[in-house]
Amino acid sequence: MKLDPYINVDPGTMSPFQHGEVYVTEDGAETDLDLGHYERFVRTRMHQVNNITTGRIYANVIAKERRGDYLGGTVQVIPHITDEIKEAVKRCAEGFDVAMIEIGGTVGDIEAMPFLESIRQLGHEYGSQALFMHLTLIPFIKAANETKTKPTQHSVKELRSIGIQPDILLCRCENEISEEERAKIALFTNVPTKAVISALDARQGIYEIPMLLHEQGLDDILVEKLGLECGPANLDDWREVVDRMENTRHEVTVAMVGKYVNHADAYKSLTEALHHGGLRHRIKVNIKAVDSEDIEANGLGELEGVDAILVPGGFGERGFEGKVATIRHARENNIPYLGICYGMQAAVVEFARHVCGLDKAHTTEIDKDTPDPVIGLITEWLDRSGKVETRDEESDLGGTMRLGGQRCRLSPDSLVRKLYGEDVITERHRHRFEFNNHYRDVLRQNGMALSGMSMDETLVEIVELPGHPWFIGCQFHPEFTSSPRDGHPLFTGFIEAALAHQQGEVPAGVAAL
Ligand code: GLN
Repeated sequence: MKLDPYINVDPGTMSPFQHGEVYVTEDGAETDLDLGHYERFVRTRMHQVNNITTGRIYANVIAKERRGDYLGGTVQVIPHITDEIKEAVKRCAEGFDVAMIEIGGTVGDIEAMPFLESIRQLGHEYGSQALFMHLTLIPFIKAANETKTKPTQHSVKELRSIGIQPDILLCRCENEISEEERAKIALFTNVPTKAVISALDARQGIYEIPMLLHEQGLDDILVEKLGLECGPANLDDWREVVDRMENTRHEVTVAMVGKYVNHADAYKSLTEALHHGGLRHRIKVNIKAVDSEDIEANGLGELEGVDAILVPGGFGERGFEGKVATIRHARENNIPYLGICYGMQAAVVEFARHVCGLDKAHTTEIDKDTPDPVIGLITEWLDRSGKVETRDEESDLGGTMRLGGQRCRLSPDSLVRKLYGEDVITERHRHRFEFNNHYRDVLRQNGMALSGMSMDETLVEIVELPGHPWFIGCQFHPEFTSSPRDGHPLFTGFIEAALAHQQGEVPAGVAAL
């Protein structure tokens, strides 16, 4: 569970530039990107209850106050806010053997205080069934060739001053901490030396971390402290993942053409999913971030020599025409293409304009007056003419999207059916606009296959181009369900197609059709 001290009710309206990607759960919550890491590592499915913010806690408490639940009492941070936090934690933990609660921010932040006070109380309630793990920083000063333990000592002191004695210290560091330094930290913080763990920057990436922590015995300390009964750790799957990442046989380059491309965390799940896609065949995946506005200004030069092209989800007008130009290039030159959400919508616009001859086709997200709104809000195209009717300009930006896991039926002879190996899939959504059903016929007649439909057939979820080696656009976000151990059929297929393209072959998925 992630507790975030900021005041936004959820991260749904926060800019990916500032806060990284918005991670969408199966039950449709817009959450912190850390929940994505939790799913990728632990496989446990996260839900709305797994992420709470100060904003949500206050919203609940204020709603209760308005309803009169506090019977005229004075509503205060302690106990009302802290009780609300404790209840949220207990609600989330119900039915599980172990709950891990991560508190964002830094000890000493004003915003984090109610959260820390709440977990202090929980620690008191649960006694030996609870433990505190504190993540600290051990900076390395290059110029002096020196490791500094002071910041760790200080933050533990700060934590102890509010009544929390950490049981374990996880020390983020660039270089291994020496025995001597660990003993010193232990002495000053009252933590046993063996529980001072170095959380070293992982050279081979984050999937090496389970092994690095295991080598230092962190798992044993936890199991012992919490009195859990379990056999020895089995990290075979993780060793396999790391081995596949380290010992690659091939290398492909995928161009990712979008807007937030220079912000590493803005597409976190997506970049992870692309790397997972290479694991099955030991393919190293290089991701070339291309700003679609650069394509508008300078043409398609940046796409030269790439093995595959991906257009991720996005919002708004900026860079859209660059995406359309990119997709046209992929379509006309038989370059494997994966379009996700906005990347699917842009593919439909591109196909309508350049293949179906509807030159002014557009999404109504950008052009409300287009004569051919191939993508629009459902409310816009529900009227039989398919033309744009009205738009509710006032609608709230928070919580108005189609969100979360939805089932989708795949067409029998499609590439996606082949890749998934299943007739019905569940994937997660986060968008307002949809494929306009009035254009189904014209797009089909011109060669676009509508290969995935919502279960009631009312919404187009996947498009593909049967005449192209590998061209798929999906309305959902497959990246949210990819994990290093399980991969994801669309990404594995996409990376295979990239390799096949590089080697001048027909991708395996297509050859088998
Ligand atoms: N902007 C588009 C919509 O709202 C696509 C959203 C996305 O890519 N996540 O429908």
